[in-house]
Amino acid sequence: MTSKSSLTCEALLTKASTRIDSDSPRLDAELLLSHITGLSRTSFRAWPEREVTDAHAETFEALVQERVAGRPVAHLLGQQEFWSLPLKVSASTLIPRPDTECLVEVALDLPLPPQARVLDLGTGSGAIALALASEHPEWQITACDAVADAVALARDNADALGLTVSVVKSSWFSELTSGRFDLIVSNPPYIPDNDHHLTEGDVRFEPASALVSGSDGLDDIRLIADQAPAWLVEGGWLLVEHGFDQAEAVAGLFHARGFKDVETRQDYGNRDRMTLGRWCSGAEVIDPAFNRGDADAQ
Ligand code: GLN
Repeated sequence: MTSKSSLTCEALLTKASTRIDSDSPRLDAELLLSHITGLSRTSFRAWPEREVTDAHAETFEALVQERVAGRPVAHLLGQQEFWSLPLKVSASTLIPRPDTECLVEVALDLPLPPQARVLDLGTGSGAIALALASEHPEWQITACDAVADAVALARDNADALGLTVSVVKSSWFSELTSGRFDLIVSNPPYIPDNDHHLTEGDVRFEPASALVSGSDGLDDIRLIADQAPAWLVEGGWLLVEHGFDQAEAVAGLFHARGFKDVETRQDYGNRDRMTLGRWCSGAEVIDPAFNRGDADAQ
């Protein structure tokens, strides 16, 4: 038998909102209470006086305490919505960010063949690959990640959503078998290793391998730009997410590697957030530092 507490949804939410120190305390509290009670967030507005059982109130309090200690809401719910897809998340991957949906939009706008071959490098939860698969089930999408738990999670998400993505374990291109892609997308790690943001907010609970990339944050983007041409078809696209202040550096790397039609696009906050370029094999390599080496043979 469940006893009723005298606590209403509104009382719980108001109290929790004052304790949670985040950009969106009320939203965080509503998501947690909705998760526990199965009640929708709109119902909290429509029926603020609805009472919550003692058991639910206790579970809510435990989650609020964890949130107050900084744990990301996505980890407490075990889930994060991305491109309207409910994705399972875990501590082994980056929590998908709304801004990465802008990268999906840019990818969907590219002139690609009907059965485009697409590669998502460092897929994490599978967010980008699965969003693209949900829009274009006919595309042949491969997603890779260096972390075994991420590979398992991305496969789980694909199965749960009934979407077809081939998920393979590979650190960037290293373990991929030969093939060429019409589009390579990536949200790689791009935060400089001494960046003060790493001590604030959700990133404290996310793996460094998904966030940090050398002293200027560009180690992985450098490697991707350098190696991608060997994996792109003639006229294929490379599209990467990066930090708001890295657009010039990333565009410089793309140009130096010989990419054409290099462009930077913005996120929801109108910050420079991603850069794309097109590979044409006849393109001149401007910077001799970028030798394609053996990769050319593939
Ligand atoms: N956009 C994320 C953040 O700043 C970082 C994502 C990444 O490194 N790929 O919190």
